[in-house]
Amino acid sequence: MSAFFRTYPRQKRGVTMPSLFERSITELKGVGAVRGELFRKLGIDSIGALLYYFPRSYEDWSRPQPISALSGGETCCVRAKLSATMRESRLSGNRYMVRAEVSDGADAMRIVFFNNKYITSMLKYDTEYLFYGRVTKDFSGVQMVSPEFLPADRTVSAFRAIYGLTAGLSNKAVQKAVEQALTLLPSQVSDPIPEDIREKYNLCGLRDAIVNIHTPQSPQALKRAQHRLTVEELLVLNLGILSLKHKNSEARGTNISQDFTEDFLSLLPFVPTGAQRRAMDDCTRDMLSGTSPMNRLVQGDVGSGKTAIAACACYNMVKNGRQAAFMAPTEILAEQHFATLSKLFADTDVRLGLLTGSLTASKKNQIRTQLENGEIDIVVGTHALITEKTSFKSLGLAVTDEQHRFGVAQRSKLLSKGKDPHLLVMSATPIPRTLALIIYGDLDISVVDEIPPGRQPIDTMLISTDKRKRAYNFIRKELDSGHKAYIVCPLVEEDDSELMAAEEYAAELMLREFSDYAVGIIHGKMKYSEKEKTMREFAQGTLDLLVATTVIEVGVDVSAATVMMIENAERFGLSQLHQLRGRVGRGDSKSYCILVSDSIAENTQRRLSVMCGTSDGFRIADEDLKLRGPGDFFGERQHGLPKLSIADFSDMDTLRVSQDIASDILADSPDLSSDKYRGLRASIRRLFADSAGQMN
Ligand code: ADP
Ligand code: MG
Repeated sequence: MSAFFRTYPRQKRGVTMPSLFERSITELKGVGAVRGELFRKLGIDSIGALLYYFPRSYEDWSRPQPISALSGGETCCVRAKLSATMRESRLSGNRYMVRAEVSDGADAMRIVFFNNKYITSMLKYDTEYLFYGRVTKDFSGVQMVSPEFLPADRTVSAFRAIYGLTAGLSNKAVQKAVEQALTLLPSQVSDPIPEDIREKYNLCGLRDAIVNIHTPQSPQALKRAQHRLTVEELLVLNLGILSLKHKNSEARGTNISQDFTEDFLSLLPFVPTGAQRRAMDDCTRDMLSGTSPMNRLVQGDVGSGKTAIAACACYNMVKNGRQAAFMAPTEILAEQHFATLSKLFADTDVRLGLLTGSLTASKKNQIRTQLENGEIDIVVGTHALITEKTSFKSLGLAVTDEQHRFGVAQRSKLLSKGKDPHLLVMSATPIPRTLALIIYGDLDISVVDEIPPGRQPIDTMLISTDKRKRAYNFIRKELDSGHKAYIVCPLVEEDDSELMAAEEYAAELMLREFSDYAVGIIHGKMKYSEKEKTMREFAQGTLDLLVATTVIEVGVDVSAATVMMIENAERFGLSQLHQLRGRVGRGDSKSYCILVSDSIAENTQRRLSVMCGTSDGFRIADEDLKLRGPGDFFGERQHGLPKLSIADFSDMDTLRVSQDIASDILADSPDLSSDKYRGLRASIRRLFADSAGQMN
């Protein structure tokens, strides 16, 4: 572990932001045990964390609209006075309604309140108010239902913060708590970004930023606050990631002395593609001569043959007398890699082991003992590899497959099992290169931009639901010729109602359309072991058809699968569709992907037709980025990064600023040990501590 994560003695110096991180949220008035629990649900356990819980959006009370300009559908603010008597009317079931008319001097609009007995006494006839709410418009004119209102002359913050909430916790409650927390901010807040840097990059101070992000005094102040806090978050992320990089240039203990790549190639049942060969050579070069251990990302589309690249690196390490560990995010994927490597190395003296959570305790112990004694050369496994109990005799290389499924912290945990081992991470999530450099800023990158020859492109078509029967017929034909198929249902929330819908759908398929076939279902709420069991049955051919949610996304190779039908395709991002589609077309047979969607939105049609037109994951990622915007693209926490609260990678300029600052700081204090960066060290620890347990 690098120096950043060491514990430094805490200096006591009055009230600092860090000390607010040590004060429980329940110290605030109005936040008792019950409400405290709700805050905790939002990830807020301390007063400091509350102050860093930034609003999701703002109500703009600063620019009242003239009523004549309202078109219906917008949410906005209107400055107006009551212009007719309020009328109460009874509705059924003890409910009642208050209607009133307000005028801005030129035009009038209706306002309506339900079941609010105080309204008639709260609203005064001679007072001008700001009404804020959603506008609707019909034949009888414009109206606002249950608007919020404030006397127009009362100074309010121009913007009112809207927070992400959880059931039982209102926006008002969060606002109130935040207001209180703000009063606890000392007048001199110690700022993690030192003053000289703030000056150089024109950033406002932390106190200003925190106050204005919650209670902006003007649009400009809000902007400055957002900019400053975004820069801070990216800076902390940046420094944190860099700190995971091997720093010690003397760390050459695990370098290999001889290149066995040619030997390895003679074991491979195929000729590597040019891109595979380049990536293999990149790895060998890193491990042979690097002044610091290899730190490489192999990024290649699904099916580009990344496993062989990893196998080559492992072989080189083993032939040079050290061990290699190959970590996969799921058991079934680990088993598959284990089987692949066992076949590949069958006629060699390479000794393989498999270590997964579901092995019996005694089997696990046996594997661990062999690893410790150096009786296993390559171990393939899941996160069982990084538990405390696992240790190696001399780990020289750590490989992680499907890197986006692992947290940054897990990667470094695997590394800590050896003395400066080399690191190879593999990812199929296609990210445009510029962004990859930022996210994986600590890594060198090999791009595998070639698909092995002879692979037939997957025929992709887009159909509407009325063609579904024909699609079923088509799938049956494929099954009859011995192939396998997937039907994917999107479960966005994976909540109970969606789950039921998916299960009902599967049941219907089993009973009707595919009653003569073995149908299985797999979804995110199933127990891990059940999922693995179903997936295994499908991989081994016991099941013909698998009805699935997105859990099949990651790397499993079922070469007999030739069709995938994706329901409600419009609900998926393009990159996700591409990953899903990559589950078919892995054998010699022609494969198909059927996208089902009734959405007629032009944007959706355009998005989905991109899928039909290309099988190039990088092009698809670019399109995805263009059509959906980076916010969405990265919103899914796909990249094993800690959860960010304000930055969204969309703003390249801000990103660049944070990188510039990071290099300034590292030039000044390479391991951040200078007292000046005490605050930053604390922020880094907090950001990465949160993500330590993240997996899947
Ligand atoms: P990835 O992990 O990149 O999605 P895999 O390593 O699982 O891809 O490879 C996909 C399939 O392609 C495997 O069945 C593998 O044996 C095969 N394969 C890999 N490289 C080649 C190659 N150069 N020529 C032919 N087949 C290959
Ligand atoms: Mg793979």
